[in-house]
Amino acid sequence: MASSQNGYPAGDRSLIHNPRVPGTSITFPGGLRRGPTGDLLLWVAAQLHHRVEDGGTGYGMWGYAYRAIRGATSLSNHASGTAIDWHAPRHPLGKSGTFNAAQVREIRKILAEAGGCIRWGGDYTGRKDEMHFEAVASEAACARALAAVSGSTTPEQPARPATPGDDLVILDKTFLAVGHNDFRLTVPVGTASAAWGLSTAVLSIVGNGPVTGTVYVQDDKRGIVNWPIKVTNAGGICARFWDYLPNGTTQLGIVLDAPNGGTVTIEGKAK
Ligand SMILES: [Zn+2]
Repeated sequence: MASSQNGYPAGDRSLIHNPRVPGTSITFPGGLRRGPTGDLLLWVAAQLHHRVEDGGTGYGMWGYAYRAIRGATSLSNHASGTAIDWHAPRHPLGKSGTFNAAQVREIRKILAEAGGCIRWGGDYTGRKDEMHFEAVASEAACARALAAVSGSTTPEQPARPATPGDDLVILDKTFLAVGHNDFRLTVPVGTASAAWGLSTAVLSIVGNGPVTGTVYVQDDKRGIVNWPIKVTNAGGICARFWDYLPNGTTQLGIVLDAPNGGTVTIEGKAK
């Protein structure tokens, strides 16, 4: 069986499950490796949520995905469920400084407490990937680290001060049917135009498998605007997509094939 870059077996979905981060509503769509390595990633995620940045509803998180490292041929550690992405829109691939200095100090403390078993993509020497945390130690080493930290309690702490993008709330969430979807989605009442004008309305689509098709945007002044969002994935098991909605969006036309179903979520600033 193929291995991901860190040596864990890749592509075996029987080894993957999808638990919540303890004490939160956050999951990592796609899931995590069962056992101590995935559990240590969950522990790190809980620490990130309480000590670094409120993970909110879990929007923009990601776990298992059978794919290569972007820009390379070797399999990503996501392909073995031994990596997580923490809020991709806030911490996009290739961008540095998406966490402030205090947050970075706390991240380093958390990773030290995890016995050095988890590496942060912000520490990559080349292209930074600050959303990304991955296992770089054996299952046995992760089990030892987990035993060392379990028993340590996670104090409830107030959320960090809001930064732009932190106050997105779910306005609507709709499930994609298994198979072909062709429906309209109305922008929630009271949030059209004015709120959208802040460019904080975000559409996200997460497939439980591949998703292909198009999303059309209806504008409140100009009728249907052909703003086709092509949602595809290159042969992987999961698909995800997000983008800001244009100003004045009142309706979305969803025409998507989702063989395994999925979800469509609109988030934004509710005024
Ligand atoms: Zn990642």
